Amino acid sequence: MSLSERIFYRGTLLPLNVFFSNRVGNVSISVQSASFDISIHPYLKGKITDEGLEKCIKQWLESEAKRVIPAKVKEWAEKTSLFPYKVRVKDQRSRWGSCSSKRNINLNWRLIMAPETVMGYVIVHELCHLQVPNHSKSFWALVAHFLPDFQVSKNWLKKYGQMLFLT
Ligand SMILES: [Zn+2]
Repeated sequence: MSLSERIFYRGTLLPLNVFFSNRVGNVSISVQSASFDISIHPYLKGKITDEGLEKCIKQWLESEAKRVIPAKVKEWAEKTSLFPYKVRVKDQRSRWGSCSSKRNINLNWRLIMAPETVMGYVIVHELCHLQVPNHSKSFWALVAHFLPDFQVSKNWLKKYGQMLFLT
């Protein structure tokens, strides 16, 4: 079993609950208050591999991220008056976010697994780069101006960030 038994979703670590049900399509995912439910159609019994399931989970999380993250960026852009040109939610192997000189912001879809505050911190971090492109003192002062507790989120990423990488 290469699949991990628990998964973070929006900051809550949930046990994976895999079961067979013919009520839905091939694979159906839903997040409950105490479990991350994955329902598999019985005809896939013995046919679906862990890798196949992992792919389904990844696709589902990525589509959630694409639904949630751009709306959050919009909220924060309005709060900070820092407006990016384009926002993309991408698969980034080693970064949580990035900001280009063209004022485009890229965010890692894995942030959908992190708590709201952590997702907010990465968004604010990248928005602040629109004003200060480096990590100078004035950059961190700007981040702290909008998020005085940002260090808590930074620490969370340091501690749990690796758990947001399924593979
Ligand atoms: Zn940065």
